[in-house]
This record gives sequence, structure tokens and C-alpha cells, in this order.
Amino acid sequence: MSNNGFEFEVDKCINLDKLTLSTHPALDMERLKESVKETTNVSEMDKMNGVQNGSPHKRVDDVLEWHEYFMASAFLVAKRSKDPVTRVGAVIVNEDNKIVGTGYNGMPIGCSDDEFPWDKNTHDELDSKYLYVCHAEMNAILNKNSADTKRCKLYTSLFPCNECAKVIIQSGIKEVIYMLMCDKHKQKPATIASKRMFDAAKVHYWQYIPQHKTIVIDMYEGIP
Ligand SMILES: [Zn+2]
Repeated sequence: MSNNGFEFEVDKCINLDKLTLSTHPALDMERLKESVKETTNVSEMDKMNGVQNGSPHKRVDDVLEWHEYFMASAFLVAKRSKDPVTRVGAVIVNEDNKIVGTGYNGMPIGCSDDEFPWDKNTHDELDSKYLYVCHAEMNAILNKNSADTKRCKLYTSLFPCNECAKVIIQSGIKEVIYMLMCDKHKQKPATIASKRMFDAAKVHYWQYIPQHKTIVIDMYEGIP
């Protein structure tokens, strides 16, 4: 995805009638929950986990809560990426919980995915993807279908690099919800710089813990 060294793969399974989204198969959920305590606002976790509807009326029991819905959408968008190593998705949501922009990491318009390189560590820098690829967060902002993204939230499958952090701040986004941040990259300059800028610009960022490790979409659900 970027030159900050983040690497992950979205575990995926697309059949004719079902689409399965899941987090990285090697993701240790308990460890993630432990690590997230360091970065997640307690009230956010309460809001995510403590909401129970006491209504006596019949209702479906598999409704995705907002955070899960938007983060799953980010993972779905990531499936559009042709990056063979790191596929990232981002979704921008306004104050009315409406999606106003989506993006994934890919080559600029007019720059063929087949002609431009996806390699990482090349002898010649010009043969590396880093000089060309547009990150998911930046694409989501550029793809917005609203006048602006002021006071919006951005959901992303991977913690933003410093370049995307700049764009996020300049676009007026005030909250970043991310899914993954590899432990070994927490001390990378790009990560530290992102946090430093977010803190200074008062952009709230926190790590999301999914309620479900896997979400299955039945493409024929509801069709008699
Ligand atoms: Zn980036």
C-alpha cells in the first residue's frame, strides 16, 4: 500500500452466491483487543459493544452496527485493488451516517494497472509502485460526491501513512477509525508523523475491534 512498510492481506473468498469478508487470518483477536485498549476511547467501546435494544417488537438479530457496517464496506472496497500484496479500502462517512466517498489503493486514472509496476523493493526506484500508486484514503477523499468532507469520519482498513494524514487533515475530516496497525511498524517515522499531525490538528483516531471476524454476504438472500 505504501512506503511505510505496512503489509497485510485481506482474507477473501468470493463464490458465485456468497461473498465472505474477514479480517486477516493470522490476526490474533485477543491480542488486538489488548492493544486497542491503549488507543481506543472507552466511551467509543461502550457505544460499540453496549447497545442493546429492549424493544419487544420482532426484529432481525444480525443487523450490522454502524462501525461494523462502514468498516466492512472499507474491506469490500479494498477488493477492487489490484495490488498483489497490500489491498486497502477507505470509506468516508458524513455526520448523517451517509457514505460520501470510497477509495482503494490503485494507479492514477489513465495509468494502466498492467503497465505500471506493483513491485516494492526494486533496484531502480522508477520500477517500484511507491512513486505511482494512489492510496485508498486519498482516493476516497478525491472521489467524494459531496461538496466537502468537513467534520466527516474516515474508516480505513489500515492506519494512514503520513502523506494520507496530510490530505485527511486538509480535507476537514475529524475522525479516523482504522482496523490494522502492525506492531512492528508502530515506531516507523511515517506512523509517528501521522499521529503527531493528527494530535496537533485534533483529528481523533482509534482502532476498531470487529464484533465478527467474518461477515458473509449471500448474494441471493431475500430472493424467493
Ligand atoms: Zn497513505
